[in-house]
Amino acid sequence: MRTYEKSIKAFQEAVNLMPGGVNSPVRAFKSVNGDPIFIESGQGAMIRDIDGNEYIDYVLSWGPLILGHAHPDVVKAIQEQAAKGSSFGAPTLLENKLAQIVIDRVPSVEMVRFVSSGTEATMAALRLARGYTGRDIIMKFEGSYHGHGDSLLIKAGSGVATLGLPDSPGVPADVARNTTTVPYNDLEAVKATFEKLGDKIAAVIVEPVAGNMGVVPPKPGFLEGLREITKQYGALLIFDEVMTGFRVDYNCAQGYYGIEPDLTCLGKVVGGGLPVGAFAGKREIMEKVAPSGPVYQAGTLSGNPLAMTAGIETLSRLTPETYEYFKKLGDMLEEGIREAATKYNIPHTVNRAGSMIGLFLTNEDVVDFKTAQTSDLELFAKYHRLMLEEGIYLPPSQFEGLFISTAHTEEHIEKTIDAFHKVFAKLAR
Ligand code: PMP
Repeated sequence: MRTYEKSIKAFQEAVNLMPGGVNSPVRAFKSVNGDPIFIESGQGAMIRDIDGNEYIDYVLSWGPLILGHAHPDVVKAIQEQAAKGSSFGAPTLLENKLAQIVIDRVPSVEMVRFVSSGTEATMAALRLARGYTGRDIIMKFEGSYHGHGDSLLIKAGSGVATLGLPDSPGVPADVARNTTTVPYNDLEAVKATFEKLGDKIAAVIVEPVAGNMGVVPPKPGFLEGLREITKQYGALLIFDEVMTGFRVDYNCAQGYYGIEPDLTCLGKVVGGGLPVGAFAGKREIMEKVAPSGPVYQAGTLSGNPLAMTAGIETLSRLTPETYEYFKKLGDMLEEGIREAATKYNIPHTVNRAGSMIGLFLTNEDVVDFKTAQTSDLELFAKYHRLMLEEGIYLPPSQFEGLFISTAHTEEHIEKTIDAFHKVFAKLAR
């Protein structure tokens, strides 16, 4: 049996210091009814907690660490840059370099503006879409997460074109009114809403693979349909690739599915584990951003040299072959999970997009938030804790995906599949 005494004590201290003991809610392990584990260090695919327990990590800081923890080249480059200065609030060559990489690699992108988080990227993209179109309403999808900006913290009301209700106290009703929410993968709902509100909709924002209700890939034709409808009504199509960018494929999800949005939001991998986000897109739209245009956006630490360095070093080490490797490991893991769950009669649906893998503890096809919610959350909490005991660190929420890094090997995957067998045997029905 592993012990977690130091983590338990640290969390008792933390709850007096920070709301819920954490600086981002999901870290508190609330949905798995346990105390969180405090991390001491990470190396490659492994992390170690403050009690000395080791885990194979499938969270990877919620996606950014596509090369694994503390990649030696990335660490060295950050150290060298830190010695030269950590922030200037003035232009550096590093920004040009990372911007060029993003422009070269993301099919729809001609210009980019760096920010410091995914939330900032989506908030700025909405302002730009509204400023560019002169319209106010944003369409988003039920169960999608785009950061904690007011306009995006909105859940669906009942019915197709229901204008939003705030998901959180503090989001003004007047803001929520300008967000409309429809089910993911439901083009008919999108069409019906456009028929009613089409001339008022500034943009549709979509995760090209939904990653915040667990992993839910787009149905064939869904993204194509969004592209067509937005064009028809003069609304912008925004791909929120904060999670999928450089994760699903070398050219991001838009390259993989062959759809060009008007604007793209990036985060996570683009910063290689340091705080970076970006919004980017067609020159004609991006030139509306200050100071070349009137839509205001700014940041003291935007384009930060350390963060740009981590991004450059990380993206430079990704090649099309990296994604073949992810496919191989992903196939292995997906197959292994299915086999173990079937053997022990555990309800399961495994969804997958490249190195994003989502196991839902339900036998229903998961195509949207409603079907994702058919998962057995009590079973999930038990399974999560037992996997920790086996040294496998998984996201502490049913509605998040697993990630693989280049540091994961076939051996890590085999060990993980063994753990699935042991844990599912204990939970067998
Ligand atoms: N968009 C998507 C698709 C995300 O997954 C996230 C974070 N999980 C965000 C936006 C917000 O990014 P951040 O947490 O960096 O603000």
